[in-house]
This record gives sequence, C-alpha cells and structure tokens, in this order.
Amino acid sequence: MIRHLLSGADLDADTATQILDTAAEMAAVSGREVKKLPALRGRTVVNLFYEDSTRTRISFEAAAKRLSADVINFSAKGSSVAKGESLKDTALTLQAMGADAVVVRHPASGAPHRLADWVDGSVVNAGDGTHEHPTQALLDAYTMRSRLGRLAGLSVAVVGDVLHSRVARSNVLLLSTLGAKVTLVGPPTLIPLDIAAALAPGTDVCYDLDAVLPSADVVMMLRVQRERMGDSYFPSAREYARRYGLDGSRMARLPEHAIVMHPGPMNRGMEITPEVADSPRSTIVEQVANGVSVRMAVLYLLLGGNNR
Ligand code: ASP
Repeated sequence: MIRHLLSGADLDADTATQILDTAAEMAAVSGREVKKLPALRGRTVVNLFYEDSTRTRISFEAAAKRLSADVINFSAKGSSVAKGESLKDTALTLQAMGADAVVVRHPASGAPHRLADWVDGSVVNAGDGTHEHPTQALLDAYTMRSRLGRLAGLSVAVVGDVLHSRVARSNVLLLSTLGAKVTLVGPPTLIPLDIAAALAPGTDVCYDLDAVLPSADVVMMLRVQRERMGDSYFPSAREYARRYGLDGSRMARLPEHAIVMHPGPMNRGMEITPEVADSPRSTIVEQVANGVSVRMAVLYLLLGGNNR
C-alpha cells in the first residue's frame, strides 16, 4: 500500500480497486446499528483544514471515528495559523503530537506534497487549491461502480469549470487508470488548452454539451468556482446556464441508464437545475454517503491495513 494519498496519479489500478473493494466492506459497517470498528484504536488522525469545507471535513471525521481513531480537528481560523504560523511550523507541531495521519485541505496547490516531506505519518490530500482532490475521485468512482456495475468502458462527461476544479483533475487521472473514457466539456475559457493530454492521453475535450449527452453513461457537473475567478470567463450566469447548465430537457437526452453527479456544493440554477439535482438519476446524496466509506477505506489501508 502507498504511504500518502496526494494525487489520483498515486493509485494504480490494483490499489484503486483494493480501496473501492474495502470501501464496499466499510459500507456494510455504516449500515449497522453500531457503526464502529476497532481497526485504528490508539491511532491519531488530524484534520488540518485551511479552507472551508462541509462535506469533506465531516466525512473524514466520521470515517476516522468509525474506525475508533482519536480525531483532532484543526481549522486555520482561530489557531496560530491566523497569527501567521507557517505550514512547516504547524507540521512540526503535528509531528510532536504524534499524528499518524494528517488530512489536509489548503488553498495552495502542492501544500500537501510539502507537508508530506515534513511529517512521519501519512498525508491525505483533501483538496489543494485548483490541483487535486483524490478522495473525491475515489468516492465518485465508487458511486459509478455501484450504480452502473463497472468502470471500464464507461463514457464520463465532466462538465463545466474544469480550469479551477481539483475534482476534475483527480477524476480524469483515476478514471482513466480504471479504464473509463473521459470527455471534458465546457466553454473554451474554462478548459486549459493542454489539460487533456497532460493528465491522461485518450481524454477528449468538447465545447458542446448537447453533442456528448446521448452517449454519456455519467455526466459529472462541476461547480462554477466563482470565488476563484473574476466574472470574465463567460458573459453572464444566464448565458452559462443556457449553454452548459443541465436542466430537465437536456437530461432527457441522456441514455436511460445514465446518472448525474455533482461533488457539491451546488449552484442550483446555474450548472444544474433543482429538477435534475433532485431527480432519481442524481447520485448527489449517495456520493456524500459513499464518501464516508471510501475515506474509511483510505485511512484503514494507509494506517492500519496490511503494512504496519
Ligand atoms: N467540494 C469540492 C472541492 O472542495 C468541489 C467544489 O468545491 O466545487 O473541491
């Protein structure tokens, strides 16, 4: 097993499949009345969040607690980070406290990689800037596999603000490792020119959402990340929704079995309408539930699993 999970590229097909299979076993625990396993008793997991998060932070906390680890939640607001303490000094503090795993979210792309040089424990990237979010990709893959029965050969359209999306990057890397075919869809201003080839050869780019819908098994809508952009990437929110938003009539062009995903938080009415988000094709709530099982599997395999 790998020591850190920093990127979707850290996972080869066997390791990724092992995580997904372990997550399926963890899901069975989450269905029990007593949702706890003793696997990580005596281990310490620190959640180090320098950026806001709802789903990811709660999900990692629930995952670590269900495995009986001690959990320390450290948010940048209200800590010495607010007084200007550097990432390195924070890392040394965590090291001194004996953290076995550090789950880190940071606005700077690459911060988890630096942290991994400074601590002895495992580092899990819970989202770094516009770079990567590998556990989101794992939970997305898990959700696709459980709804559609396979990953190899699936056509997955990843739609919208690819430029600012760490979810898109990690998904392209992981899904192509697992044999799915990814097409990035969005306005040219939001799809970096060389991204497809740079991430995974075989990834396509298309600027016309309507053209990809009839053959998609999965449509993954991305949040338009307005906090990371000025308004200049497209003329107006209305225009964006008209060309790249998923509404009921577009959804009707999908094959019958196709599913609609979104990592959250949604801009309802912009990239996705409520009619679509709340439809039976939508896996948005399932994705959140699956996130706990997948993060349990990641912590279990990195920390306790089979190598220490
Ligand atoms: N929650 C995801 C992330 O943190 C997606 C998003 O914010 O749009 O990257």
